[in-house]
Amino acid sequence: MSIKLIQNAANADENVLNRYQHALFALTENEDKSIPFAQILATKLSRIKKEYKYLGKSPVTVDLPNGGLASFVILNESLTPFQRHTLLRKATKQIIDEQPEKIALCIYGNEDIRNINACAAYYVLTVNSAAISNRKKSAPISNLNQIDIFGYQAAHDYGLIDARVAGNILCRQLTTTPPNDLTPAIYREKIRTLAKESGWRHEEYDMLKLKEMGAGAFVAVGQGSDPQDAAIIHLTYQAELEKKHIAIIGKGICFDTGGHNLKPAKYMLGMHEDMNGSAVALGILLAATKMKLPIKIDCWLAIAQNHISPTAYKQNDIVTALNGMSIEIVHTDAEGRMVLADTLTLASRQKPNYIIDFATLTGSMITALGDRISGVISNRTELACKAVCAGNKAGERIVAFPYEEDFDSDLESDVADIKQCTLEGGGDHIHAARFLGKFIENDISWLHTDLSSANRKGGLGAIEADTNGFGVGFGVEMLKLLIED
Ligand SMILES: [Zn+2]
Repeated sequence: MSIKLIQNAANADENVLNRYQHALFALTENEDKSIPFAQILATKLSRIKKEYKYLGKSPVTVDLPNGGLASFVILNESLTPFQRHTLLRKATKQIIDEQPEKIALCIYGNEDIRNINACAAYYVLTVNSAAISNRKKSAPISNLNQIDIFGYQAAHDYGLIDARVAGNILCRQLTTTPPNDLTPAIYREKIRTLAKESGWRHEEYDMLKLKEMGAGAFVAVGQGSDPQDAAIIHLTYQAELEKKHIAIIGKGICFDTGGHNLKPAKYMLGMHEDMNGSAVALGILLAATKMKLPIKIDCWLAIAQNHISPTAYKQNDIVTALNGMSIEIVHTDAEGRMVLADTLTLASRQKPNYIIDFATLTGSMITALGDRISGVISNRTELACKAVCAGNKAGERIVAFPYEEDFDSDLESDVADIKQCTLEGGGDHIHAARFLGKFIENDISWLHTDLSSANRKGGLGAIEADTNGFGVGFGVEMLKLLIED
């Protein structure tokens, strides 16, 4: 996707705007009667018995005399990035639904607010205009090839936003791919191609190699598939100037049946998206590469399926992980923490400054937060605090949960070093983190992200689609914060 951008420092008048079919007005509370089409907007507002200020709560879209469509929204300085994105998503929905080729973006206010609003509007317009391909004959095609900005000439070319958009789109494209089109074997091939295109070092640990190495936690999940095409993939991006070394990890379960503890139909539907964590990690890696962040990233992807089969792992099995710990299997649907355990060990052995993992991991995180916000847990309190800030900055909201040692008593096993999980509930998202923490070597600072908001019906923040790529924006902000650390 390549969109031509034309920036005009001056505002456009009605004559200029009559050449456009689609226009978006990012306003402040001060414009009111001075903007183009003010009379048409005023008529609509009076018809719905609202005042101009109402545009700060709910955007208004009107038809123009030239047959065009214009949306008006007030975006004040006091808004959080999430609120700004949400208002812009609502303001642009009708425009983007018409798949425009060209959009006029009219920016008002003082210098600071114009930069903030232009960047946010550019992000929301481009990220929602991208066509995510599917197998429907009438699948939408994106036609947007030009954005003309009026009223603000930025000192940058929006390249950093393009990078974030590319990461988000890659994540959503992979996550929504049906499971028969994205088996571990196919996914591995796609990643190999992507690594070649992006200049990443590429290495694979396949099932044979992992068995040989003694990665019994990962193998327990991978062994239930035929063919045994599961693998841990290791990608590396290395900038010339490398201020920090950070490992990012993603859970990539291409389909999660639950295994022998089979999911009922209602909960199995959609489980092709259980590889979302790996797609988020890939999206972050792609965005960071395009942004040329001064950093070394080791990206580890745990790619497998969780199947029911004669060779699949069972309750009461005891397996030994790569770090030598024996694990008592309690529930075969808790496969995410199994594949991540050995992946965390591999990542931590390279002694990065930080490890950040991404996974659609527990139902209890969704119970705790719903599907609007994602939760993090860290073995360093200050890292969890940074994550909350990074999430706020990105417009992808993050809440920190505790990492308290006494939760370990729930995971004590009579027959192995640790239980995989409990059947009693009582904070499984915290149990999962306590479990995962046991597989990190060298006491590396680690942040675990449980992606409870990966899919929300009707859109979330900037993104109109249900599968929203949550975590790419947050992850990129997190990297930026940690580089400066
Ligand atoms: Zn599962």
